[in-house]
Amino acid sequence: MPSIFANALAQLESAARQMKLPKEILAVLHQPQREVTAALPVTMDDGSQKIFSAYRVQYSNARGPYKGGIRFHPQVTLDEVRALAFWMAVKCAVAGIPFGGGKGGVMVDPKKLSAGELERLSRGYLRAFADVIGPERDVPAPDVGTNAQIMDWISDEYARVTGHAQPAVITGKSLDRGGSRGRETATGRGGFFILQQLAERLKLKPEKTRLIVQGFGNVGMHFTRLACRDGYRLIGIADSRASILAAPDRSLDYAVIANAKQDYGTVDPCRCTATKGKICRCPDHRHLTPDKLLTTDCDVLVLAALENQITKANAGKVKARIILELANGPTAPEADVILDRRHVTVVPDVIANAGGVVVSYFEWQQNRENVSWTESQIKQQLQPVMEKAFQEAWELSRQQRINLRAAAFQLALTRIAQSIQKKTA
Ligand code: NAD
Repeated sequence: MPSIFANALAQLESAARQMKLPKEILAVLHQPQREVTAALPVTMDDGSQKIFSAYRVQYSNARGPYKGGIRFHPQVTLDEVRALAFWMAVKCAVAGIPFGGGKGGVMVDPKKLSAGELERLSRGYLRAFADVIGPERDVPAPDVGTNAQIMDWISDEYARVTGHAQPAVITGKSLDRGGSRGRETATGRGGFFILQQLAERLKLKPEKTRLIVQGFGNVGMHFTRLACRDGYRLIGIADSRASILAAPDRSLDYAVIANAKQDYGTVDPCRCTATKGKICRCPDHRHLTPDKLLTTDCDVLVLAALENQITKANAGKVKARIILELANGPTAPEADVILDRRHVTVVPDVIANAGGVVVSYFEWQQNRENVSWTESQIKQQLQPVMEKAFQEAWELSRQQRINLRAAAFQLALTRIAQSIQKKTA
């Protein structure tokens, strides 16, 4: 497995070279400010004890408290958490919100734990890191494998440890525990606002624009719902269990896919892949291998699953004109070079999936002011933030003839550098 943090550093170094970032700033940003690791003992339902490796990486607080989700996944590594923490610092700076970057993780498959075990693990995570987090220090949130319930347990445990409730310690909570309206849909919605911005500039007509979406979890599902509602043509969809392509000149029906996900836990509406050896004879779609879907002809390829999906091995075969990165780090740096050469427009993760952290910021603000905004207030405030981030990167990329990732990094690094210089002046 390639080092994801090495990928992140390659992006940093490339942007630093292009913009002539001062050496001292590059040196500061070359590693996290702090990394804390812990071994979390959890009593399992059968009375035995298991130990889980856990991490919190605080990359940069130059622009505000560290901010970033907690991932529960069996393959979580410190290397991955470092990379994700770095990208959070860049993302918050591009979006212009006053947060730095952090991230957390536990090496665990949450699907294999009972609700009680998951609660004990989540509370244990908070106790292990209570000294380094806090509403003005480091504000975690959900990520892959974690959800509002887990955030509620963590918020509650923080109140127990510190002796008073401070909901602003964590975002992504449920509504009755101080969560924000619109947080659940925020990342997908933010990605959809970016698609609309692209459509305006590249003159895309929704009914003629074919989308393939990889990943149908929180992010992929809400994005797909909004895009299909606006008339975009969904021609391909994948999750970890199936990859489906619509028959020629047909589109997939969002409702059918969403129902299949709800009923069978996979986007596969006919469940052919679930039945070993059965050949799919459905008239409206067929099954592909996961990699084949990524290189199938379409207009916009939406990556909403995991890291490192487009690599130097498949970048040359991608047929999409546009890649929208809703996942974190789905394109490896060597693949970026190939896509650039082939004039594929890549909207980087640090812009495309910023909707989640922007609404997390709104949640943090609401908690601090003890107010609750309506869903329409959230949508109205999210849209201009996403549009501004995209617009600034788009203009810089046109002025300097660089790609959108390089432009986004330049914008972010300029802002982070200014904050570091102010603090050290
Ligand atoms: P999720 O766990 O809800 O969904 C992940 C989806 O990806 C699932 O449908 C899963 O089946 C699918 N998947 C996993 N492996 C796959 C594979 N090999 N091929 C195809 N599909 C695969 O996670 P999520 O919250 O939707 O997050 C997805 C990505 O977006 C992650 O990279 C995450 O870091 C990033 N992200 C999430 C948020 C957020 O608010 N949830 C915010 C910013 C970025």
